[in-house]
Amino acid sequence: MSAAADPLAEPGGRAVHPALRWATVDLAAYRANLRHLQELVAPAELMAVVKADAYGHGATTLVAAALEAGVRWFGTLDLANAHELRAAGVGDGVALFAWQFGPRETFERAISERIDLGISSLRQLEAVASAVEAVSRALAPDAAAAAPVPALVHLNVDTGLHRDGALADEWDALVTRAVRLREAGILRLRGVYSHLAEASDEEDTGSAELLASCIERAARLGATFERRHLTASSAGMERPELRLDMVRMGSNTYGIPVTDGVSAADRGLLPVMTLSASVARVKRIAAGTGVSYDYTFRAPRDTTVALVPVGYADGVSRRAQHGVTIALHGKRYPIVGRVAMDQFLIDVGDDPVAVGDEVTLFGTGSRGELTVGEWADLIETIGEEVTCGIGARVKRVYV
Ligand SMILES: *Cc1c(COP(=O)(O)O)cnc(C)c1O
Repeated sequence: MSAAADPLAEPGGRAVHPALRWATVDLAAYRANLRHLQELVAPAELMAVVKADAYGHGATTLVAAALEAGVRWFGTLDLANAHELRAAGVGDGVALFAWQFGPRETFERAISERIDLGISSLRQLEAVASAVEAVSRALAPDAAAAAPVPALVHLNVDTGLHRDGALADEWDALVTRAVRLREAGILRLRGVYSHLAEASDEEDTGSAELLASCIERAARLGATFERRHLTASSAGMERPELRLDMVRMGSNTYGIPVTDGVSAADRGLLPVMTLSASVARVKRIAAGTGVSYDYTFRAPRDTTVALVPVGYADGVSRRAQHGVTIALHGKRYPIVGRVAMDQFLIDVGDDPVAVGDEVTLFGTGSRGELTVGEWADLIETIGEEVTCGIGARVKRVYV
């Protein structure tokens, strides 16, 4: 379309951005983060955690990029995400680790697709064993003695979070049954793991000791595990002695800082997501004029407000009204009035602004914008919550 035919073009034919709102996902930054983190945790291996659609970045595309960076372990949380990745062509030479299951989960497809399973209870273990039998029967219906297709099992110890994982007093029974199943060729003990609460260094150390003692008890019961894993982004970065054989990192890989007062840049990490929009309307308002729902803001002077077409349906919290600033032409302007479902306003004073001008909500900082960590601090949350909350209406643009 020529500029002259574009109803949004400014007089003089200046081009305007075609989209209302979009999130740019920098795959080179993601790969650089992964390479940096792989080197940092070596000789431990890096598992890239891509649950929740890769923290809102888009799992399928990010996994393809991570494969180029040499990553061979991915954490998907659930089986649906793991199956999606297999369907997208991620072959079984690449490990996909899932650890959250429904109460009636059936594991046949997971067994066939060689998904690594984080197992917390006897009930799950029995479901996995039945699935192995079903899959093996389906593959070799006549051969009674055909070797089963073993499940890839990681036993999960609860060392304090009280989420999933077997409690210490359930551990021996779980291990004893797993050893029996391994002897029957029903499973491989691919790993043993836990997850830290990160409440304090002392308590994390206690959790690591509990994991170590569970591994020792398992050894006495005849279990040896192919790998041990415990830490995620925070302790994986700060506590080298706890890295064991593998570190499961999400936040760090997306350039989201996880330690208070430490930026991603301080850690040599690059922000991966930039959230942008184009100005949808510009209005000059007189002193005293209220804007947006409830008129929580009334202009203290004559000023210009610009409409940014991103709202809480897109992941911009209503709390962002209090202190969050938005970059336009390299300068930051405050959000004024309520953030609505689909839009909010910024106060640009007497500065020039036109429909179609690009604004940056958060990103690398190179256009004067906040990073996602700074954004999150201002609304008293964490960067992961912000990127995970970016809604489906926001088109992901991969560069
Ligand atoms: C989400 C999650 C991770 C990754 O956590 P980050 O802090 O984002 O690195 C690792 N392990 C488990 C079990 C998780 O649930």
